[in-house]
Amino acid sequence: AHLDRIAETDGEIHAFLHVDADGARAAAAAADERRAAGEARGPLDGVPLALKDVLAQEGVPTTAGSKILQGWIPPYSATVTRRLVDAGLVILGKTNMDEFAMGSSTENSGYGPTRNPWDVERIPGGSGGGSAAALAAYQAPLAIGTDTGGSIRQPGAVTGTVGVKPTYGGTSRYGLIALASSLDTPGPCTRTVLDAALLHTVIGGHDPRDATSIDAPVPDVVGAARNGDVAGMKVGVVRELGGEGYAPGVEAMFAKTVALLEKLGAEVVEVSCPNFEYALAAYYLILPAEASSNLARFDAMRYGLRVGDDGTRSAEEVMSLTREAGFGDEVKRRIILGTYALSAGYYDAYYGSAQKVRTLIKNDFDAAFGAADVLISPTAPTTAFRIGERIDDPLAMYINDLCTIPANLAGIAAASFPVGVSADDGLPVGFQVMAPAMADDRLYRVGAALE
Ligand code: GLN
Repeated sequence: AHLDRIAETDGEIHAFLHVDADGARAAAAAADERRAAGEARGPLDGVPLALKDVLAQEGVPTTAGSKILQGWIPPYSATVTRRLVDAGLVILGKTNMDEFAMGSSTENSGYGPTRNPWDVERIPGGSGGGSAAALAAYQAPLAIGTDTGGSIRQPGAVTGTVGVKPTYGGTSRYGLIALASSLDTPGPCTRTVLDAALLHTVIGGHDPRDATSIDAPVPDVVGAARNGDVAGMKVGVVRELGGEGYAPGVEAMFAKTVALLEKLGAEVVEVSCPNFEYALAAYYLILPAEASSNLARFDAMRYGLRVGDDGTRSAEEVMSLTREAGFGDEVKRRIILGTYALSAGYYDAYYGSAQKVRTLIKNDFDAAFGAADVLISPTAPTTAFRIGERIDDPLAMYINDLCTIPANLAGIAAASFPVGVSADDGLPVGFQVMAPAMADDRLYRVGAALE
């Protein structure tokens, strides 16, 4: 049924870069047999899922939304992918995304944008717009995203779906095509809070193949999602994440949701995180720095595209021609920025300062979590904007990440839950909840209370 739905709707939505119909049918048939034999592997055995194209899946084309990886078929699976397959989930295909996960609208994909099922003239968020749109269009009940600066949460917010960024290190980066290794975090994208918790449990937990993986059990997110009791919970409204620049309809829906939490027995307090003002600037130095280094591996020799290799050119010329043709504008912009920020003579002023700001932001969180169990804010300052509206203005695009980036810089857990539509335009509004590292269960408790 989901493959049929994709065939009917994806011409318009373009959530998928690759649909693996044969693989999905075979996996579904195997799951049916296990169920019939009473040997189901768990609650999600046989449930279809859409996988963001930044995660390697053995034998299935994987591009990270980039032309430079066109034609690459990974010889191995990411740990997240392997755990999904081992739990019996049926992978329907790979979803569209901003190239190498750089963007907030999916317009930076090398293969054309994804459209928001709520209004096809609007963006579905990014970078994981394909995964979120697949859920909103009922093409898949579950999806996987990756969140480096908001790429799970912001697409969730603008498509009215649930998106969870687990604690950094709580889900494995092995086999995830790296954007910024100190920030990248795979996580669940779903339509319900309990679905997200079940999926989180499947993909989460220690992985010896990832050097920054946390060696501790996954918090009891399923228990929290089934519970939803927020009575007595201290909820901190972050003063700096609101006000000027936030759409009235987003602020109104946020205030309404805060009132609802209060009615459910939560104690609402205001907290201040003064260094959040510098989060965006620090992120847009740290991320390009790490990305410029990670993307050096696309050298025309190892994977995918190779341009100009006609026997007359040097390896360096082929590399240069391939990177010129294979990378899009935003990727080139960030490689140049990052290389500059890391270069001798500028390193301390740019990268070094950004790392200091990162520490200050972490300190702000530590102080705020002394006063509150969870912190809350809108997920994004506005609802889904129009395709084309911000693509020529990188700063307007980056501003969209204001609320989501602090959690990545600090490595804590955060989620976006759908709480209704804006009175301005009838489009979905997301509500962000943030919790200390390895207290991911608190996100689900609040999410379940609001559902
Ligand atoms: N909008 C952020 C960026 O462009 C999102 C990154 C991400 O989470 N992959 O960097």
